[in-house]
Amino acid sequence: MSQYLLACDEGTSSARSVLFDREGYVASSAQIELQSTFPQDGWVEQDANAIWAAQRQSVAGALEQLGTTSSSLHAVGITNQRETTLVWDRSTGEPVGPAITWQCRRTANQCAAINQSSDAEWMSARTGLKIDPYFSATKLRWILDSDPDLPQQGRDGELAFGTVDSWLMFKLTDGRLHAIDRTNASRTLLMDLQKGAWDDELLGYFDIPREILPTIAPSSGEIGYTAGDVLGVEIPIAGVAGDQQAALVGQGCTTPNSAKLTYGTGAFLLVHTGQEAQVSKSGLLSTTAASLGDVEEFALEGSVFSAGSAIQWLRDNLGILAAAAESEDFAMSVQDNAGVFLIPAFEGLGAPHWSANARGALVGLSRSADRRHIVRAALESIALQSYDLIEALESDTGNKIEELRVDGGAAANDFLLQFQADLLDRPVVRPRDLESTARGAANLAAAATDFWFDARYEVDRRFEPNMSVKDRRLKLEGWRAALDSVLSGISDISS
Ligand code: ADP
Repeated sequence: MSQYLLACDEGTSSARSVLFDREGYVASSAQIELQSTFPQDGWVEQDANAIWAAQRQSVAGALEQLGTTSSSLHAVGITNQRETTLVWDRSTGEPVGPAITWQCRRTANQCAAINQSSDAEWMSARTGLKIDPYFSATKLRWILDSDPDLPQQGRDGELAFGTVDSWLMFKLTDGRLHAIDRTNASRTLLMDLQKGAWDDELLGYFDIPREILPTIAPSSGEIGYTAGDVLGVEIPIAGVAGDQQAALVGQGCTTPNSAKLTYGTGAFLLVHTGQEAQVSKSGLLSTTAASLGDVEEFALEGSVFSAGSAIQWLRDNLGILAAAAESEDFAMSVQDNAGVFLIPAFEGLGAPHWSANARGALVGLSRSADRRHIVRAALESIALQSYDLIEALESDTGNKIEELRVDGGAAANDFLLQFQADLLDRPVVRPRDLESTARGAANLAAAATDFWFDARYEVDRRFEPNMSVKDRRLKLEGWRAALDSVLSGISDISS
């Protein structure tokens, strides 16, 4: 009997493979680092072949750790960095150029032009997204424009476009499958969110030939089969979702109004909105959720640009921490923040403020403040920004999130999670397994192939709120005043 379910978790900085056993426990896991290149200011690329090589190598590593072979595998789940855009030759399987990653801003001018036109409104309404270089459409247009032969080859059906999930599926099936799951498709700016189908008007606007598009597949279901000469075994590819949507599933948030927050470099909040796509009035994105069945489900999404990166900044730029984990002891060694607030607007501010030109500030410094207060202010800023995001989300949905499930690297920090619970005045829950992304991909594949019966969501710790109404109000007032000083340009006075 096949014993393991393979989750391929292809992220920006590494490709990981996790093997889950039939009881839902992680049996082994292997990770291979991946490089990005920065050929020009604001440009970010990856080598598509290196992505595949790293993924393949990590699969071998995870099997090797258990001393087993691919014949012990039952099915594959895939989760991936979203929006990253690839085009390859269908017959040779060779990419026509580098993968343009989600971080790449090379199409900023094109997006700015659309945003100044009347088209931005219908495009946002149709896709649930903002017109931003983050999403795939303008990156794909850029690739097609990079070589005068490509548009015709595209129309002739010689080329294939896809996001990283499509690329892995193509490779795993030895070129037999050209698909994209619905969650990844919802990030391309080419899909009608309500219909879950490619949109002719958007394709026309960006001049994208239909012949290059992958088939949109559900997130859970037997989408295709791995080729025997690639993986050594023919098994179903049965679950696919973009990383944030997979994490939502991995955290068990599959019913309306359940939410998860991932504290990584940035922070990503997703709330499940059931079978209705909701339009945000607060600058959040409306997106497809990964459904465990074959029904369309949706989510609202908001992100904070700088979360864990504020801690990295203290460590790498100011040198006041030797390691990110030290921040917890520093913060707990003082009574309060001594009135200090850090606004980590290193790359501007995202939802709900949306100020690209805002820049960071440290405000409220007095003679008694020392580095411990600055570290505390940095951790508090992660929770305060997340609070603003949740407040915006709740004003959109009109529903209160009862408890917040968290994951990501900085979710290891007890001070941060307690402070988040205090601010929100509701429980914050940390699961035992912080790898929600891989678990989500595994859950999607398991549901389609009857692999397990227990999705095994286990709580590590529940942080209960413990802050007085007055303290919460004062904290939020201080934060608002600090934010206002940044948003009103006061921080520019010294320049
Ligand atoms: P990503 O997936 O974006 O690379 P991770 O989920 O791996 O991010 O989390 C890494 C981030 O979390 C880093 O920015 C790091 O500074 C921060 N981080 C890691 N451990 C801690 C900790 N104990 N306390 C606070 N921040 C932390």
